[in-house]
Amino acid sequence: MAVLAGLGLVAGCVLALVVGLQPDSLVDTPTRVADPSTPVQVRGLDADLVARFRQAAITAHAEAGIEITITSGWRSAAQQQEILDAKVAEVGVDEAHRLVAPVDASAHVQGLALDVGPYDGALWLRAEGWRFGLCQVYVNEPWHFEPTVDPGTTCPPLVPDVSGLWR
Ligand SMILES: [Zn+2]
Repeated sequence: MAVLAGLGLVAGCVLALVVGLQPDSLVDTPTRVADPSTPVQVRGLDADLVARFRQAAITAHAEAGIEITITSGWRSAAQQQEILDAKVAEVGVDEAHRLVAPVDASAHVQGLALDVGPYDGALWLRAEGWRFGLCQVYVNEPWHFEPTVDPGTTCPPLVPDVSGLWR
């Protein structure tokens, strides 16, 4: 019983931490987490992705004492455009296109990506995420994970950055 309560507490802490961007125009589909009572950091994400993340976070705590939290999950198209515009203003178009995905190709906008923290949590997930079907995708984004493969199978090789999505 204590173990179950502990796991519940861990899951609760994992989900209670870290406020990402506020969804402003969430599309309610069966595959998205759209219940208004859902913690904001998982709202709008693919339900299977959320289930995989929960399992990974509980396992990271149980096996390694490491907390993993979502720092950014689903984003509206408008939010992704804002991030892009700010990055272009900051570093110019070429560099921005290595750092920010286009709105129509962003896995965050599709509800199929999550950014995690803190750093040791991201490191743990990079090594162990394949067990839950969560893969790092880009070399320059060690915090960004997508449900790229079936749980328990090998993650594909990393690509350098998101610039391929702009071609
Ligand atoms: Zn990301």
